Amino acid sequence: MSAAKVAVITGANRGIGRATALRFADADYHVVIGARDAAQAEEVREAIAAKGGSAEAMPLDVTAPASIDAAADALAKAHSSISVLINNAGINVGQEHDIVAASYEDIEASLAINAIGPLRMSRALLPLLEASRDGASIINVSSEAGSIAATLDPENDYASMKAGSYRLSKMALNGVTALLSKALRDTSVTVHAMCPGWTQTDIGGPDAPNTPEDAADLALGIATGGVDAPDGSFRNREGALPW
Ligand code: NDP
Repeated sequence: MSAAKVAVITGANRGIGRATALRFADADYHVVIGARDAAQAEEVREAIAAKGGSAEAMPLDVTAPASIDAAADALAKAHSSISVLINNAGINVGQEHDIVAASYEDIEASLAINAIGPLRMSRALLPLLEASRDGASIINVSSEAGSIAATLDPENDYASMKAGSYRLSKMALNGVTALLSKALRDTSVTVHAMCPGWTQTDIGGPDAPNTPEDAADLALGIATGGVDAPDGSFRNREGALPW
């Protein structure tokens, strides 16, 4: 059993997830690097260890119940509680298609990874999150592109964005956030959605104005109370976002 607070991060092998793993390790969390790619997860673990941090690599596909169950079992054996679950893993497929043209293949894959995956992870790790004496948080890495209010606002930049399958899945993730927050209101577990902003990763591309480290800072701020993020809130680095 480790003494440090434990942070579990999905899709932590690259992009925002990798930067978030390094950031939480710097902040003295023991980091669980959830990833489908074992070699990349091990590289992140070594990068953390090289800086004196504490981490473990965990095989994890957020669409595979057996993979999630195995991770939850391994975590329960190794740790008495989890302080933070960051549901970061995500895909952005079929960006060029709006919701009329999006393929059902893309819609179903996006919902499975971006919305149902975080729900599966949250439910599987709930006993360990509830066991955290200082409270625990679930942070869902969403997107303002999944804001229904922004979608219906013709003045908003995101109103003209296509990406029907991605946007639907992030709307569903925001729904998961709100419903989990409500369902867990009498527990010590809080639930948050965050938009990292357009970020330099494989999803965001090289022209994005924000770095993965910016997103990692926001996640850490939400987890530690450094930024204002009440239970059941949706925000970016600037402040609250409309659902
Ligand atoms: P990347 O493409 O760099 O990283 C995506 C990560 O998700 C990878 O680690 C990938 O793993 C993982 N992943 C995908 N599917 C699964 C799965 N089934 N099980 C486990 N892991 C999986 O993108 P970002 O870092 O940009 O994205 C991270 C999050 O940030 C996403 O939820 C995204 O929607 C969100 N976001 C990003 C923005 C941006 O501009 N970059 C803007 C708004 C939100 P693998 O290597 O195995 O594919």
